[in-house]
Amino acid sequence: MVPGPEPIAPAATKGSAIQMAAEVYDVVVIGGGAAGLSAAVTLGRARRSVVVVDAGEPRNAPAAGVHGFLTRDGMSPADLVRVGRSEVASYGGVLRDGQVVSAERDGTRFTVRTDDGQAVHGRRILVATGLLDELPDVPGLRERWGKDVVHCPYCHGFEVRDRVIGVLGSGPMAMHQVQLFRQWSPRIVLFRNDVVQPSDQEWEELAARGITVVDGVVESVRIEGDAIVGLVLAGGRVIPVDAVAVQPYVSARADFLKGLDLTATTDPQGLGTFVAADERGLTSTPGVWVAGNVADFMAQVVSSAAAGVRTAATINADLVAEEVRLAVAAYRDPFSAASEARHAERLLGDRRHGLDQEQGRSGAGGPGPRA
Ligand SMILES: Cc1cc2nc3c(=O)[nH]c(=O)nc-3n(C[C@H](O)[C@H](O)[C@H](O)COP(=O)(O)OP(=O)(O)OC[C@H]3O[C@@H](n4cnc5c(N)ncnc54)[C@H](O)[C@@H]3O)c2cc1C
Repeated sequence: MVPGPEPIAPAATKGSAIQMAAEVYDVVVIGGGAAGLSAAVTLGRARRSVVVVDAGEPRNAPAAGVHGFLTRDGMSPADLVRVGRSEVASYGGVLRDGQVVSAERDGTRFTVRTDDGQAVHGRRILVATGLLDELPDVPGLRERWGKDVVHCPYCHGFEVRDRVIGVLGSGPMAMHQVQLFRQWSPRIVLFRNDVVQPSDQEWEELAARGITVVDGVVESVRIEGDAIVGLVLAGGRVIPVDAVAVQPYVSARADFLKGLDLTATTDPQGLGTFVAADERGLTSTPGVWVAGNVADFMAQVVSSAAAGVRTAATINADLVAEEVRLAVAAYRDPFSAASEARHAERLLGDRRHGLDQEQGRSGAGGPGPRA
């Protein structure tokens, strides 16, 4: 038998801190949202030992339901994660709650540390930590985020259709966003907020689509009961709206990767940051992969899940390639157990211990390559 490259726990289970420290998983998945959990299910089904370390704050947690995920429409984000976690566990995956604070290479393996002082080790790392939405600094926005303060028309546009939607000018995509939300409602108000400066062509496009434009800085959100009723301008004027569309600055949750020479890259349009990787999710640090919003801030839930599946399959292929390399090296080594077995077979033929005459005659000496 060819020895494996590392003493891998065959079926890792939850254990004490001491047990944890000794385990080397095939893959440590950091982040247990749609991307990380989908990856862990794929790896579990590929018979890989996998641990998911998760801080328990998926990006869409403030929203009542997930939209745009076929067969899961309206499911609460918490339920999606709960079902995903149970699927991971059903294939032997280990789920650990915790905030990862550092990750580093430790010889041929990686060590990932959490804020409670524990460590897990893996042959590969998949980072699926998503991103942080930094909202414009206007009181009331955070309170209503994911309810009637929205950013993605495909996620929430249908829920605010035909309502008065105020688009708060806050970034380079405001003109795009205002025309996009116009698809969901004819009652759109663009708040220039001293940020948006439409060109002549854009003024014409706004007029042509019946979009109201309001000048002045937005100072706060007027909330009554459980709903937004307006945006308050400097000076106190209130413009009635039913919902507000904003463009958050999105930051990849990747600070803990510094020890692996990885930092987030700033998007050239100034929309946010992401961890750069190739089309399979491999970063510039060998053995470290990314999937979901941490790598692609445009990804929705279903596309983050898909990225997790694709990257997991690629990681598995990478592990297989390593195992083939190690197996061949052991096969060529004259003193390896595999070579000893081959020599014994060559010298003793069908007189090997335990081999019956029938097998010997037919040449069925067992599986595996022959010299
Ligand atoms: C308000 C809102 C509503 C949305 N609604 C929809 C919708 O209806 N449909 C849709 O398709 N998309 C929606 N989205 C987008 C959706 O949230 C993302 O596409 C999706 O969550 C990305 O999945 P992910 O797995 O990459 O990241 P996440 O779902 O954010 O999961 C990342 C996980 O990693 C954990 N984590 C982060 N840092 C660490 C760390 N250091 N250590 C350990 N764990 C860590 C987090 O706690 C989290 O559990 C919405 C977004 C928002 C903001």
